[in-house]
Amino acid sequence: MSKVMIIGAGGVARVVAYKCAEHPEIFSEFMIASRTVARCREIQADIKEDLGYDRITTAAVDAEDIPALTNLLKEYKPVMVIHVALPYQDLTIMEACLAAGVHYLDTANYEPKEEAKFEYSHQWKYHDRFKRAGLTAILGCGFDPGVTGVFTAYAAKHIFDEMHYLDIVDANAGDHGKAFATNFNPEINIREITQNGKYWENGEWIEIPPFSIRKDLNYPDVGPKASYVLYHEELESLVKHFPTIKRARFWMTFGDEYLTHLRVIQNIGMAGIEPVMHKGVEIIPLEFLKTVLPDPGDLGENYVGQTSIGCRIRGIKDGKPQTYYIWNNCHHAQAYKETRAQGVSYTTGVPAMTGAMMFLTGEWKGAGVYNVEQFNPDPFLKKLAKHGLPWNEEVGGELEL
Ligand code: NDP
Repeated sequence: MSKVMIIGAGGVARVVAYKCAEHPEIFSEFMIASRTVARCREIQADIKEDLGYDRITTAAVDAEDIPALTNLLKEYKPVMVIHVALPYQDLTIMEACLAAGVHYLDTANYEPKEEAKFEYSHQWKYHDRFKRAGLTAILGCGFDPGVTGVFTAYAAKHIFDEMHYLDIVDANAGDHGKAFATNFNPEINIREITQNGKYWENGEWIEIPPFSIRKDLNYPDVGPKASYVLYHEELESLVKHFPTIKRARFWMTFGDEYLTHLRVIQNIGMAGIEPVMHKGVEIIPLEFLKTVLPDPGDLGENYVGQTSIGCRIRGIKDGKPQTYYIWNNCHHAQAYKETRAQGVSYTTGVPAMTGAMMFLTGEWKGAGVYNVEQFNPDPFLKKLAKHGLPWNEEVGGELEL
């Protein structure tokens, strides 16, 4: 029985909170703390109505204010923070966790506000400090990063002697009925996909212009979807932890309509992250765009279709070539029915809760900073399937990639 603190109150936090409340035997009570406390209270009220769980407290906190957050942690005394606010807050929350003696878990790597640059180096630097404090930090425990790392660790443990080619494939074949909307925080999402693409080949990163490599890939129960190579943060940790990988790529599907909107947004300067003056006030175009775009947390109600995310891997087993595909499909409507959130929030929130559960039940342990693929994948995948994200696998099948 443990107390945890969820930081953030967006779509992902909502799912984490529902899932924690579904497991009172582990999450005996928890706090939802975020910048806007009204959003925490909304989740608290919905969970009380839907599940009858009434051991949630709420608080307003700016997670970039280390002393304020440290005080809140010392007051509430959680065992662990589940950080599902924004990647900008990773380091300040890690600092507060160190100051208050609290374990840490997140779903996205640190990103400086002034530069759209994703890399683990900032957080890996904390390893010795967490180790000395006897604390654990689990990085990137959503779906991608997160489950994709655990899928890869599972393949390394059970399917291959050596993995050589890894392709992570992420399809969203959902329809929310809006002309343009992003499935998670628009600011973070647009920064991620408009930067140059990058993949790993023969020991080095190959950089490519955004959306310059496209293939129509077939996804189970979804069919063919236009898929593009882009950089995704788990590639960095996976090629480090599985050095036999010769090539690692990440593919994501985008519709033509989405790409047209994105191109216009970029061409007219609305994806900019440099401040501009507007009527005497300094604004950041991308932050303003976030204000006028649909809130990803509100997309759920009419969202139909499903996501399909998995790993396609080639390598060697017993001296012979081996192939493997492991994936999960998640229906937006089912996710909404259970948590009032859409599938992308659901596929992120369920693994975050499952990772916290792994730590709290002693399945995952170790002082220091860890990526999910460094832990035992078996108990995680067992629980993941039970908690709403069942997965499928095919050994030895034909792979398109
Ligand atoms: P939202 O934008 O819906 O929610 C973010 C929440 O964080 C909001 O409640 C916001 O508060 C709060 N917040 C922002 N800044 C602060 C701050 N300084 N202090 C306290 N709270 C703050 O995002 P999502 O729920 O869609 O995503 C949450 C996280 O999950 C993101 O980091 C995202 O990158 C990650 N993610 C990971 C995925 C994966 O598979 N690994 C996939 C999808 C998302 P306010 O209401 O005041 O704005």
